[in-house]
Amino acid sequence: MADGSTTHHDILVSGGGVAGLTAACAFGSAGFSVLCVDPAPPVTEAAADGADLRSTAFLQPSRAVLEAAGLWDRLAPHAADLQVMRIVEAGGDPPEARSVRDFDAADISDLPFGWNLPNWLLRREMVARIAELPNVAFRPGVATARLFTRETEAIARLSDGTRCRARLVVAADGRNSPVREAAGIGVQTMRYGQKALAFTVTHPIPHQNVSTEIHLSGGPFTLVPLPDLDGRPHSAVVWMEEGPRALDLAQMDRAALEAEMSARSCYHFGPLSLASQITVWPIISQIADRLDGERVALIAEAAHVVPPIGAQGLNMSLADMGCLLELARARPEGLGDAEMLRAYHRRRWADIRLRVTGIDALNRASMAGAPALAALRDRAMRLLHDVRPVRRTLMQAGLGARPARTADGAPAP
Ligand SMILES: Cc1cc2nc3c(=O)[nH]c(=O)nc-3n(C[C@H](O)[C@H](O)[C@H](O)COP(=O)(O)OP(=O)(O)OC[C@H]3O[C@@H](n4cnc5c(N)ncnc54)[C@H](O)[C@@H]3O)c2cc1C
Repeated sequence: MADGSTTHHDILVSGGGVAGLTAACAFGSAGFSVLCVDPAPPVTEAAADGADLRSTAFLQPSRAVLEAAGLWDRLAPHAADLQVMRIVEAGGDPPEARSVRDFDAADISDLPFGWNLPNWLLRREMVARIAELPNVAFRPGVATARLFTRETEAIARLSDGTRCRARLVVAADGRNSPVREAAGIGVQTMRYGQKALAFTVTHPIPHQNVSTEIHLSGGPFTLVPLPDLDGRPHSAVVWMEEGPRALDLAQMDRAALEAEMSARSCYHFGPLSLASQITVWPIISQIADRLDGERVALIAEAAHVVPPIGAQGLNMSLADMGCLLELARARPEGLGDAEMLRAYHRRRWADIRLRVTGIDALNRASMAGAPALAALRDRAMRLLHDVRPVRRTLMQAGLGARPARTADGAPAP
């Protein structure tokens, strides 16, 4: 609804990255009126400048949120199943696989662990879904410039000079979230001096739906299955290294880089051929002091950032959305009020803190290159893998199995 240059919506989603677009689809599909703004228009083709060449492995619990958002049927035809998570401990020069441990989804479920999709394709399908929803407006090229809140509503001044009045502002505006700052919510940040290279490769040996994490030093080298490309097996790669080494790799010519990546992968799927451009991502861990402010809910990287290990980042974000959606549906008249937002913080905080702390520890362990530390890492992994109940519990926790709750919805003690 417009009144001069002011629009009224139930929800303003500030940020149209993968998380913000999903939130707009989810709340729109639930019948709320939504405005989503982002200064950077989404890039929806792999070969275009600025394309996000990462992929997202959606784990089982995220599927329900994608279904509720009306996205799953659009995404499923483009997804590669993740049936097995393989951890390889490598050593030597040139590196070779010293131990291989498989975590098979069949141990805990009839379904795969998850489904992998390229991020640029997610944006394409999400923008198309928003176009189907008359109650959702998406304004790319427009930023949230200022935010004022009071007990009953939020008023955002947008960069095109208009204003938006909303009952709830969902901050999905990334790790440097301007909305988080406007709400006066602090963050704790942990830095590693690491960067991740993200790109896709084809390879002669089929991946057989195995997601493979190879540990040596500097961080893991991960190959995540994608659907075949022109009839050739195809995987998304996330390669974490110390910053200067990552930048050197990103500047190598194609033949030199292919030789380096094939060696670093221990030729697990044979020689790797680069199938995309290369993007470089700084790696940090970060957690906001709170998830709620007056009329404001922080989600996704505005609330938490983790290194890309175990496909947790966006899956935690979808859990944020699932929780907010549940609270909004249960008491729509209380959308964005202090009771709803306190409940959101209470329900999500402990799980987020546990995952940020756990992934921080895994990342530090994975960076270790010294042989004694690598042997320690291998022994710990053997312990976690070889004892069946421990292995099953670990897999369930990695998927984000929901913890038990008390009657008021807080995590059970
Ligand atoms: C290499 C790598 C691999 C990964 N792989 C996985 C994986 O397999 N599985 C998984 O779950 N997660 C994964 N992640 C994490 C996942 O990619 C991120 O969690 C996710 O992309 C972050 O999404 P976001 O929407 O929160 O943030 P962003 O993508 O940063 O989006 C924030 C948006 O906010 C916009 N914005 C900024 N300022 C404003 C403003 N003032 N007003 C409005 N909008 C604004 C920005 O333009 C931007 O578009 C990976 C991360 C990395 C680095």
